[in-house]
This record gives sequence, structure tokens and C-alpha cells, in this order.
Amino acid sequence: MFIAHLPAGYILTKYIQHKSVNSSLRLLRLGLIASIFPDIDLFYFYLVDNSQILHHHYITHLPLAWLALASILYGAVLLAGKKQYLIYLGVALVNVMLHMFLDSIAAGIYWLYPLSDMEINLVQIPVIYDWWIWNFVFHWTFLLEISIIITTLIVWIRSCKKIS
Ligand SMILES: [Zn+2]
Repeated sequence: MFIAHLPAGYILTKYIQHKSVNSSLRLLRLGLIASIFPDIDLFYFYLVDNSQILHHHYITHLPLAWLALASILYGAVLLAGKKQYLIYLGVALVNVMLHMFLDSIAAGIYWLYPLSDMEINLVQIPVIYDWWIWNFVFHWTFLLEISIIITTLIVWIRSCKKIS
């Protein structure tokens, strides 16, 4: 997924806020950051690794690594007696997992690594164009990204109307 991670994170976080009592801007910001955070590995991919290994193979794109980290943080939050922060942990985790799911559509994610090497890739994108990005942009899966963006605009406009 190229351009819809952030909009998808917006929709998901707004939905969680709608269902919970926390409608804070801080929670929304956290959800937005978490929705794109796994792609921070692109800096390493381009600047350090010289594009040698697909960035979806890095630890930042391994769902079980995020679940392990979230479990540790969950325990720490409970031990500290700060249950009110669990919603922040939950929002961050579901947004990271949403990122993984969306990346699984047109590319691969190792959902069970290190337990399994099976890569989940729901739709294979054929190589047609020389510039690899066009292969994704001109594939029907890109319509999903556009539909997510349109939905985000609708949710955002409705959200603005509620405030005013
Ligand atoms: Zn990604």
C-alpha cells in the first residue's frame, strides 16, 4: 500500500474514538503515527541497506514482533496501575496491525515469523511496467487505496460538521 495507510489509520482511530469515551486529539495523533510507523524502515532500506532486502522483511513489518512489544507494554502499564493508558496502547497496536493487513494485499507480510516463513500476499501484482510503481498504481488494488481516501474525506467532513 502506498498512499492509504494514513487515511486508513484516521478512519480506524475515529471509529475507536466514536465507540469509546476518549475523543482526544492526542489519541488521534497516536493512531495516525502508528498507522504509518512501520514504514520508518524505509529510511534504513534506502539510506543504510542500499535496497538489498525488501523492507517488509525488517522487524518493523513483523506482526508478531509488534504483538510481543505490545504484550510487554501491556504488562508494564498494568504493573504501573495506569489502566487509563491501555486505550493508547490498543489504538497504536490496531493501527500497526491495520498497516500490516493493508501491506498484505498487494505485497507480502510474514504474519507468523519467526514461527513460520509463510508470506501472506493476497493479490499478486504482475510486472508490466519498467518503473515498478506503475505496476501498483495501474492495478485494480489501487482502487482500494482511492476508496479509503474518499471514505476518509467523508469521515473527516462529518467530523468537522459535528464540531461546528
Ligand atoms: Zn508498510
